[in-house]
Formats: sequence, structure tokens, C-alpha cells
Amino acid sequence: MRRADAPAIAQAAEVLRRGGLVVFPTETVYGLGARALSAAAARRIYRAKGRPSDNPLIVHVDGPEMLPLVARRVTPLARRLMAAFWPGPLTLVLKRAPGVPDAVTAGKSTVAVRCPAHPVARALIAELGEPIAAPSANLSGRPSPTAAAHAARDLGGRVSLILDGGPCREGLESTIVDARGRRPVLLRPGTITPAQVARAAGVPIARPGRGAPAAPGTRHRHYAPSCRVELVSPASVRGKWPATGKDSWLLHRSRAGSNAPARRRRVPGPIADYARALFSALREAEAAGAATLFVETVADRGVGRAVMDRLRRAAAG
Ligand code: AMP
Ligand code: MG
Repeated sequence: MRRADAPAIAQAAEVLRRGGLVVFPTETVYGLGARALSAAAARRIYRAKGRPSDNPLIVHVDGPEMLPLVARRVTPLARRLMAAFWPGPLTLVLKRAPGVPDAVTAGKSTVAVRCPAHPVARALIAELGEPIAAPSANLSGRPSPTAAAHAARDLGGRVSLILDGGPCREGLESTIVDARGRRPVLLRPGTITPAQVARAAGVPIARPGRGAPAAPGTRHRHYAPSCRVELVSPASVRGKWPATGKDSWLLHRSRAGSNAPARRRRVPGPIADYARALFSALREAEAAGAATLFVETVADRGVGRAVMDRLRRAAAG
């Protein structure tokens, strides 16, 4: 693990150039990066994470100028969304360019691409001079890393270098939008909300049609810490709790009622703060040896929709 200063970024670019793996910070979560235009390099990502080979990777570019290397037929809709949200936590699904290996797209005719806002991510892409393929830097199925230490715990020993750029500002993965048509199709909710996407697009969001690609990763088990995750409503958090074990943990926004688990973390205030704290709280509870982590639910709209998406999947299984 190295502080992400200029010499460390230069070293990371050199590792990538030789086909190696580097963990780097983005504003969403930490990414596990490899050269996007090399099939061998991209395949190393799958091996390091234990990632199913049918789950494609997001390609990171340092601006729309790099887009022709990875995507074809950049639609007017995509241009509007890029103008509104890049650099930032919005991933666009477009038709893939011939140079993108199957290992990156899982053999699909489409590619997912975004331009991150984090200065270290941008500097790394610019220094390499090529797009970087990067999923979240966790072992497959585990909570996404929002700090360098999380990535080190999962992947230390499997990567050449971890760049530490501090905690992630967003803390949830990017919003993914299929931008191949006239209307945007939401494939994964994120901190950029459906309403914001529709406003920037100038047209309403379309329902996924038949044949529209689901974001494949959303089918897999995800975000699960080693403890059991149980969702509780705000009313139940405030009310009188039934007896819970000493090994229970609570992540909540509301004031906790009587008998609530003694070990807890409260993140009141804006929902964005809760979103930012979510993955690190899952890992904190796990590290503290919790058997059950109770998590307070939020209203399923705006950023809350992304929070609930991650929570439901953390609690499944
Ligand atoms: P991760 O960075 O680990 O959150 O994973 C990236 C996610 O992007 C995948 O799980 C997919 O859901 C999504 N994705 C990547 N490429 C495509 C694509 N071509 N079409 C639709 N979704 C994609
Ligand atoms: Mg992931």
C-alpha cells in the first residue's frame, strides 16, 4: 500500500503497462485495474477476484476523447449524459469497439465505460495513456472497498500495488445507463438518480425492453460480509427491540429504541452520508466479529434506491 503521490502513480502506470494489476481510488469505490485493451491483463482481474467470467468489467477513460478506443456509435443521448455527468459516477453502456477484448465485455457486443472524477484515477489513466478496465477491488461477492485498507484485506498479495487515496467520496458504485437508444435505460442505480439522468437526457427513462442487456453483475450474489445481514424498518429501529445477542450490531439513521444492540453506528443526516458509510459499516461489523448486522432501511427513491439495491443483495442468501 502506497500513498498515491506522483511517483507512486508513475509506478502504478508502469505495472499496468507490463500487464499487471493495480488497486486505485475512484470517487465511487476502489477499483482493481488492468489494461483494458489487453485480454491477458483483463483475465488477471477475474483470477484475482474469483469473479465469474460472465460478469463484464467497466472501462475507465480520462475523457470523451478516449472513447473511440472502446465504443462505437456514440449516440446523442450518450453525449448529453457525458456533458452532464463526466467526470463522475455515471457509467454508459454503448456498442463496443473492435479493439476491446472479449475478456472485458464477457463476450457481449456492448461495453460499459465511465470517466471517474477522482484525481488519482484520472492521473493514472492519463499516465498510462490508455483505458483501464476496473471492477470494484474486493473478492467476488464481498462488500465493495471504500478505503485502501478494505482492498488490502481482500486482495493484498494478489496485486502488485495498492494506491491509497483516502476514503471514497461517494461510497457506492456508479449508476449504469444503457445509452444506445433514444431514451436512457437504467441498469444499476447509483448516487446519480434516475430523475437526474432523465433531466439531463431531456427524455424520460425507458423500461428495459426485451433484449436490452441487464447489468450482469446485478444477478450475482453481492456485497455480503461474513455475518448475517437483516433489514429493519425505521419504526422498528425506534421501537422496543426484542432480545438480540451480544454479537449483534446495528447500522442506523434513526434514534435507537430501548434494548437495541449496544454495538452500533449511527449515521443521521443526508442519505448521501448513509450511502457513503454503508460498505465500510458492513466490513466494520464483520471485523468486530458480529454474527448479525441489523441495518435500517431507507425510502426506495433517489439515492435511497441505490442504497436499498445494495442492502437487499447484502441481505439475500
Ligand atoms: P463492478 O465494477 O464490480 O460493480 O462491476 C461492473 C458492473 O458493470 C458489472 O457487474 C455489470 O453489472 C456492469 N457492466 C459491465 N459491462 C456491462 C455491459 N456491457 N452491459 C451491461 N452491464 C455491464
Ligand atoms: Mg463489484
